[in-house]
Amino acid sequence: MVRDALSRPLRDLRISVIDRCNFRCSYCMPREVFGKDYPYLERDEILSFEEIDHLVTSLLPLGIEKIRLTGGEPLVRRDFVKLVEMLSRHDVELALTTNGVLLQQFARPLADAGLNRVTVSLDALDDETFQKMTDSDIKVSQILAGIDAAIENGLGPVKINTVIRRGVNEHSILEIIEHFRGTGVIVRFIEFMDVGSSNSWRMDEVVTAEETRSIINEKYDLSEIPPVDASHVAKVWQTSNGDKIGFITSISQPFCGSCTRGRISSEGKFYNCLFADSGFDLKPHLRARVSEEEIQEMVTGVWEMRADRYSEMRGEQTNASRIRLPIEMSHIGG
Ligand code: SAM
Ligand code: SF4
Ligand code: SF4
Repeated sequence: MVRDALSRPLRDLRISVIDRCNFRCSYCMPREVFGKDYPYLERDEILSFEEIDHLVTSLLPLGIEKIRLTGGEPLVRRDFVKLVEMLSRHDVELALTTNGVLLQQFARPLADAGLNRVTVSLDALDDETFQKMTDSDIKVSQILAGIDAAIENGLGPVKINTVIRRGVNEHSILEIIEHFRGTGVIVRFIEFMDVGSSNSWRMDEVVTAEETRSIINEKYDLSEIPPVDASHVAKVWQTSNGDKIGFITSISQPFCGSCTRGRISSEGKFYNCLFADSGFDLKPHLRARVSEEEIQEMVTGVWEMRADRYSEMRGEQTNASRIRLPIEMSHIGG
């Protein structure tokens, strides 16, 4: 097992399969920046399925336990189910993060192809807020139908990722919890993060996990569940009737010390951190079909040098101001 400079193993691999998306969430791909003229990657610039599979085969022996496919929106990548079919042959947990727009259509084929689990992003249950946040005309009912299809096809436990932005969707906190009560779906509240350089992040728009919990406590008694595994980023609490609720506290309580995630961008760069300003370009090596051992050696070298702990360092700054970063979440994969 490979360990970084702070003794953290490489356990999770997040692979961004595409930098494009059918939504324009204001906190991720605001339309003013990600318009028609945005320089998205061309098809031949992104890794092919064979290249992704070669990469995964090479890296698994380093101790990878989980692979998460993300983006951009993974389900807009053509023939995405084929990639799942290829990767599910490996002995590793395979999960997907999606905005759910195409999930009703793909849940069954994805389950048949061997996908294990799905996380769906959903920030509101009323169409007005949802459409405003995603800058789309998609109705919430379409995402809910996708979530139902995921449950029916055994892609659970389904998790919901909800980003709360002050003054925009605090009212969604209780509505979402109430909607998923007793369904086994795990709702996770994510603090609005300062990733990338285009989402005009401001600290005063961050609703912290503590604030979110105090809103939930108005209606439900929450108690904390001790973490099973330190590498789980969400702090999990539960209501008195056993519904689990997660909190991802990247801003208020960073968890870099137990961060075991390596990231592959859609064009094949390996990043040590969501906030890294540069990545190691694996594509030329994957295109040259270098051996699994050589890929493994390169990534081992990169990981062993890893000392990234951006979120903790942000907190150490006196005014909690952001450092502008060149890499967008849609590019590196959320
Ligand atoms: N398109 C897919 C989706 O939305 O689920 C996968 C990619 S998206 C980048 C992955 C996750 O990142 C989503 O749950 C999204 O809410 C989250 N995300 C994006 N920008 C964020 C930000 N600035 N702060 C916190 N979470 C963010
Ligand atoms: Fe697309 Fe996901 Fe980013 Fe929203 S959060 S713009 S759905 S990649
Ligand atoms: Fe991991 Fe970087 Fe996030 Fe810290 S800031 S938890 S090191 S991805």
